[in-house]
Amino acid sequence: MSENAIKVLYRLHKSGFKAYLVGGGVRDILLGLQPKDFDVVTNATPEEIKKLFRNCRLVGRRFRLAHIVFGRDVIEVATLRGHHVVTEDKTSKTNAEGRLLRDNVYGTIDEDAERRDFTINALYYDISDFSIHSYGGGLNDLKSRTIRMIGDPNTRYREDPVRMLRAVRFATKLNMTIDSATAEPISELAPLLKDIPAARMYEEVLKLFFNGQAENNFNMMRELGLFEPLFPLVDSHLVEDVEGPIGKMMQTIMENTDARVNAEKTVTPAFFYAAILWYPLSQRADDIALESGLSVYDAYYAAMGDVMEQQCRTISIPRRFSTPAKDIWQLQLRFDRNQGTRAFKFIEHPKFRAAYDLLLLRASAEGGAVAKSAAWWKSFVEGGEEQRSVIARSANKGSRNRNSNQRRRRKPSAKKNAKPAAPSSDKPDE
Ligand code: ATP
Ligand code: MG
Repeated sequence: MSENAIKVLYRLHKSGFKAYLVGGGVRDILLGLQPKDFDVVTNATPEEIKKLFRNCRLVGRRFRLAHIVFGRDVIEVATLRGHHVVTEDKTSKTNAEGRLLRDNVYGTIDEDAERRDFTINALYYDISDFSIHSYGGGLNDLKSRTIRMIGDPNTRYREDPVRMLRAVRFATKLNMTIDSATAEPISELAPLLKDIPAARMYEEVLKLFFNGQAENNFNMMRELGLFEPLFPLVDSHLVEDVEGPIGKMMQTIMENTDARVNAEKTVTPAFFYAAILWYPLSQRADDIALESGLSVYDAYYAAMGDVMEQQCRTISIPRRFSTPAKDIWQLQLRFDRNQGTRAFKFIEHPKFRAAYDLLLLRASAEGGAVAKSAAWWKSFVEGGEEQRSVIARSANKGSRNRNSNQRRRRKPSAKKNAKPAAPSSDKPDE
């Protein structure tokens, strides 16, 4: 257990306050896992906590919390939360669907437990006598590996629809089963996720897809109807084009992401979003080209802005990821033109590697011309210096014929209508 968490617990206890380790920290230790973070609850108010710790920062608007900072390690200390009183005052507030907007009401340990999501997350380790306080059968559920909602699942999901995603995440991460009463309302209530602020959703999506359980989370989310509200474009493409390459592509993206996480390699949301949105993007580009007569390239540029903007309505992808995602898309259009001696310069592009990885994914998902192009690039990328020259020169000969054919076929009107749409001049995505 974290030494810093122990320090915090003892300081509170010795100052006469109740102090417990709670949530994922207790759950994971009991399961023999390494907790990600350690949360402490106490009956001291945030102001009292601040007086006890020099290294304390008070944070949070929705709920006031204390962060006790030890270099890069932060122990979160919250005051025990109480019941909601239905009043007109500013301490607690719910919206029409019953979603919690603000809740600064303090209370007892049982009241605090009732406010938590699942019984396995409502285990309290009491530093005064080293006992575990379990609520609603949390310890039993931990043993039987059951995710069980505290209270009425329907009400609790309405209060905070993100709990539906958390149920899935804990089930896959901890290899547990969602209790039937807890799972039952999810399909019906899944659309409530559309009301969750896109910034919060971005964080949840990171936890779902970048923690080594992307494949399982994806499959379970699809089963329960939780994927559609987050990724409407991808989902409708999956539904419409059941036989198409996107299904295979999604599966491979998830497997590859998990393999990278498990090998402790980096994974970037830029590649992830570029890859999952590739087929919705090409479809949008085709539609734009048909409607407007724009050239393929210009239609793609227009579609990139559209698709990213639409995705950002549900998940606000920071621009430091959406901009490189668009670069990865743009490079897809240039693979064919850059076969030949231009390839030497092309592979120097900072986003080449990611774009090439997407090309390989597309190739294995759809075969055909893309697979042919990918095969050329694979031999170029993997070839030694000399081999590359030979490959490049042979492609130059072939491409001269291809390019002259293309030039002849191009309609002059398409170019005239083309909007200049450099991705860098795009609107902000956030
Ligand atoms: P992990 O950190 O491994 O993802 P965790 O259970 O610690 O899992 P956190 O998001 O760190 O999850 O939250 C800490 C605790 O706060 C949870 O264990 C739970 O008791 C409570 N909690 C978090 N989010 C919610 C929520 N949306 N509704 C109710 N309780 C919640
Ligand atoms: Mg945690």
